[in-house]
Amino acid sequence: MTLHEYDETVAIALEKELNRQREGLEMIPSENFVSSAVLEALGSVATNKYAEGYPGKRYYGGCEHIDTIEALAIARAKDIFGAEHVNVQPLSGAPANIAAYEALLNPGDTVLGMDLSHGGHLTHGHPVTQSSKIYNFIRYKTNAEGLLDLENLREMALQHKPKLILVGYSAYSREIDFARVQEIADEVGAMTMADIAHIAGLIAAGEMNNPVQIFDIVTTTTHKTLRGPRGGMIMCKLKHAKAVDKAVFPGLQGGPHENVIAAKAVAFKEALQPEFKVYAKQIKANAKVLERILRERGFKLMFNGTDNHLLLIDVTPKGVSGHEAEVALDKAGITVNKNMIPDDTRKPLDPSGIRLGTPALTTRGMKEAEMEQIADWIDQAIINHADDAKLEEIRGEVKKLTKNFPLYPGLSYSK
Ligand SMILES: *Cc1c(COP(=O)(O)O)cnc(C)c1O
Repeated sequence: MTLHEYDETVAIALEKELNRQREGLEMIPSENFVSSAVLEALGSVATNKYAEGYPGKRYYGGCEHIDTIEALAIARAKDIFGAEHVNVQPLSGAPANIAAYEALLNPGDTVLGMDLSHGGHLTHGHPVTQSSKIYNFIRYKTNAEGLLDLENLREMALQHKPKLILVGYSAYSREIDFARVQEIADEVGAMTMADIAHIAGLIAAGEMNNPVQIFDIVTTTTHKTLRGPRGGMIMCKLKHAKAVDKAVFPGLQGGPHENVIAAKAVAFKEALQPEFKVYAKQIKANAKVLERILRERGFKLMFNGTDNHLLLIDVTPKGVSGHEAEVALDKAGITVNKNMIPDDTRKPLDPSGIRLGTPALTTRGMKEAEMEQIADWIDQAIINHADDAKLEEIRGEVKKLTKNFPLYPGLSYSK
């Protein structure tokens, strides 16, 4: 019996979601499209298996094939990033960070992490998180030009004597000098953690600085630029291996999601291919086209532009709020997210900015020419944000363009 025959309601919702993905321009920088091979592994029988523990040391019988899969995922991740130790069990990016803190810190320890509105992530010590109640997070900010200010970071490190210095961001578009951060940490006796959730794919391809061989611990998601299944991963120096493994299981999680780990293994194989390097280069080239045109059209680019896959844009000079821009673009078939800009004076639910990126469109095969067209549509949609007919017209154009870049051909949930 197919899914559609058994549960039409779910099947129809999935079919609609598939069509939404096919017919729209997905520009949320944390999203991507996994390959059909990754999708197949994700929907495999590995989801049926309990495998608490690690390869070769499980608390359940029958794990021999699961061990093969998980060991392969680990070996490939080591290969990609040059890691000494890898744990592929974290369920997502947030739990990977919580496990990393648990592995390295005691309650009350001081951590230096970037402020959310300056590009950090909630899990880097925002007061709404549980971690912020356990550890003493001190939050640093970007400088007046909006850039990461390592001299200020050093001063704060000297002042606060943190146990851990945390870098790696969600809405920051510039390169990070990990070697310099490590020097600062060494000067004050701190450990170092990088959260490369957004940029892991670019690092894997050698298109951005790699902290893995320098830092104590590096966490990531596997579903953003790395283009794997929704999940997390921790890489660390051998000296932290035991603490990391214990923190993930049994510290934080129970049975690992081995279907997701199988999909991670497949995605890591893809990331090791020469084609992935071409893909990562194109992600950056595409972002540069958006940067150039949107700047020409009068948008204010935070951090003065981009070195990676994303742009954080202050849209208020165009007479709209981030929320209004997001809604208008949505109506035009272009999906982005509203976002705070550094020291935003507006509220999180209606901030000054939008954040957009190129990983998903690049996966679909779009290049510079399409980016030029899309930048124009973004500008037009924001200028005409109150004109539903115009937005509908752009949506039609968007749909036409997407037809030339097929997504999951042959896939259907309607039979
Ligand atoms: C996306 C992201 C996370 C969280 O990942 P989830 O999979 O959503 O839990 C953590 N850190 C950074 C920097 C991120 O961008």
